[in-house]
Amino acid sequence: MTTVTLQHLTRRFGNVAAVNALSLEIQSGEMVAFLGPSGCGKTTTLRMIVGLLLPSGGDILFDGKSMLTVPTEKRGAVMVFQKHLLFPTLTIAQNVGFGLRMRGLPQNEIAARVTEMLELVHLPGFENRRAHELSGGQQQRVALARGLIIRPRVLLLDEPLANLDANLRLEMRELIRSIQQELKITSIFVTHDQEEAVMLADRVALMFDGVLQQFDAPRVFYERPLNAAIARFYRSENFLSGIKRGSQVETALGTLRVTSSDAQPDGPVLLTVRPEDVAIGAGPDNNRITAKVTAVVYMGTHTQLQLNVDGRAWRAEGPADFTAQPGDTLSVHLPDKRIWLLPTES
Ligand code: ATP
Repeated sequence: MTTVTLQHLTRRFGNVAAVNALSLEIQSGEMVAFLGPSGCGKTTTLRMIVGLLLPSGGDILFDGKSMLTVPTEKRGAVMVFQKHLLFPTLTIAQNVGFGLRMRGLPQNEIAARVTEMLELVHLPGFENRRAHELSGGQQQRVALARGLIIRPRVLLLDEPLANLDANLRLEMRELIRSIQQELKITSIFVTHDQEEAVMLADRVALMFDGVLQQFDAPRVFYERPLNAAIARFYRSENFLSGIKRGSQVETALGTLRVTSSDAQPDGPVLLTVRPEDVAIGAGPDNNRITAKVTAVVYMGTHTQLQLNVDGRAWRAEGPADFTAQPGDTLSVHLPDKRIWLLPTES
């Protein structure tokens, strides 16, 4: 059980800070996702934690002890890569047992632990096969077993599901989550997929351009994003400018009541509501604004509406049988408990 602390962790390549003063603490046994668009510094952070890359500044601590001078093999962190990189000439048992052979464990103990690990990743009886005789998903599970067999303090997964098809991704997600919970290993995985982060992580560290934006439980990113860029990353562009006065926001479309009034000081704010929380059709009379329908898309389980709200493009979701035409004017209700206030964008 290991707590991982990053303190002002920085890595520069030339003039570019790939990771910029990243500070966060990952609790023992926690599963954290590093999430963000391509190039935001996720993999660079992982490589520094495992010891494959030296930081330009800051510190990495395991249980309060700095790892900066501790070599990779002594840190007790293992990294499972996007490409499984199994040794092609070795059997699956030899691949999985590799780390234990390097540590000089007796042959019978290695064999017993290999069997145990292959059962854990749902590949019992695969000992004598070779990598080319396995599917991509099976190879990824062998790579996971190879990492876990040394009983690492910290498990680092770099987009472990990126090369798998949709069904296998789902299967592997569930497997990784159940193994992580069973073994309670402090784990970090890198992804650029919000859905994957929501399903797998206890907490998500969202990064843009090497800078940590928000570190919270997955649902907080939907309900309480810290800024408009984060809301956008979570696929919500529903913004409306206003002036906050106490628990009310005055907008060009009328005054709205809010319950999240402590989120921002009085003055100019950006108000946001998730598409699934915009109530179209019948509903309470209060907190209503006028929206113009610009597109209607039938999605099978629901209808998606594109709206124009005070010149901004909004999205809303209605029941599957909701009927509207582009050009229609709708009165939509914004539930006060679902309105969230953000700082204005510069
Ligand atoms: P992806 O999701 O595409 O893997 P990422 O968030 O993991 O992206 P990193 O691989 O950490 O991003 O890269 C962060 C930035 O650092 C990028 O701009 C990248 O080009 C740069 N970078 C990474 N490694 C090097 C290197 N060895 N030399 C120079 N620049 C690098």
